[in-house]
Amino acid sequence: MSNGPQPSLRRVGIVGAGQLARMMGEVAPTLAIHVTVLADTLEDAAVATCDEAILGSPKDPLALDHLARLVDVVTFDHELVDLEHVRALETRGVLVRPSAYALSFAVDKAHQRRAFRDAEIPVPKFLVVDSVHDERLRTFLDELDGPPVLKSARGGYDGRGVVFPATYDEAVSLIGEMCASGEVVIEERLTLHGEVAQLIARSVDGQMAIYPLVTTVQANGMCIETDYPALATTDVNERAHELGEQIASLIDAVGVLAIEFFITPAGLLVNEIALRPHNSGHWTIEGTRTSQFANHLLCVSGEEPGDVTALAPCAVMVNVVGSDQPGSFEEAQKVEGAFVHDYGKSWRPDRKLGHVTVLGDSRESAHVRAWRSAIAYGTRTREG
Ligand code: ADP
Repeated sequence: MSNGPQPSLRRVGIVGAGQLARMMGEVAPTLAIHVTVLADTLEDAAVATCDEAILGSPKDPLALDHLARLVDVVTFDHELVDLEHVRALETRGVLVRPSAYALSFAVDKAHQRRAFRDAEIPVPKFLVVDSVHDERLRTFLDELDGPPVLKSARGGYDGRGVVFPATYDEAVSLIGEMCASGEVVIEERLTLHGEVAQLIARSVDGQMAIYPLVTTVQANGMCIETDYPALATTDVNERAHELGEQIASLIDAVGVLAIEFFITPAGLLVNEIALRPHNSGHWTIEGTRTSQFANHLLCVSGEEPGDVTALAPCAVMVNVVGSDQPGSFEEAQKVEGAFVHDYGKSWRPDRKLGHVTVLGDSRESAHVRAWRSAIAYGTRTREG
């Protein structure tokens, strides 16, 4: 935890009140930061931990305006926002961090792919279309080794908005359907040797704290586990750091930036980015000197990021994703060394309801204990 100087902008407004805002709310008092959230309902996860909540939709310009009038700086719990509304706040002089410019790379996958390709940042081979009749489509699909991956340019998260058609014909038919609601990114389906995530906290003046790389494990398009240290070579670690710094500067990120990478036979490729605390950084609450939640609040408040050195040789984080039956929080806590986090949400299958982190000297033992605890809590297992 940072014991550094107190932030100059003490009142932070967060658009959205999910578990990320909840965990920012938990650390905010230790930084003397007052947090107000814009929540959809009073049951939202962050309402219980933040100082103040106002109700409204993140897509409603009046609600955003209301939030902005209560705080010194506005930040985000998710990227399901309308960039025009965010730009309108900036035009009125509201301090928005990250800015609408930076956010645009996370809000719109088509924009991100094009901009990164132009900057020579490695991304999967892709084509963006807004119609199945686009004349480039057939050639692009023909040149791929198999069926592509299709991604809605906007609005997807946790694998929603990402589809894996089984055949060429199914791909064409799905592209037609998806184009009805906006641009579609069509992407080569890669052979993945693994997935890693790089977190960076960046201050307003560009100072960066680079977190240790982690491996992320996905099931059904959703992250279910992260492992520190990453199961990756020194070269991959160095490349992820280097690309992370390049991306952070390119998009002028402020606060936490998360970059998800694919490890492929052709090297490291960027999958996607987020400009907020990220699931791959939950382990930092116990696992590093300054958590991603503290660092996001510090950076958007105008401070330098705190030290991100790891506090143990290994850390495993397992998400609690609702199975059909809830388990027991108390039983989950009984597992030795398990830090169990409950997001205060009502139980629903496939919903992220909490997470468990275990630190240790050995990956194997941390892994076994983290899963034992998450299963006691009632998580869906890898097999479903
Ligand atoms: P979301 O934005 O909903 O998190 P992602 O684009 O990260 O979705 O995709 C979810 C998961 O799907 C990835 O973590 C990866 O496991 C898999 N995936 C995505 N794109 C590809 C691809 N081009 N090739 C192979 N697998 C992919």
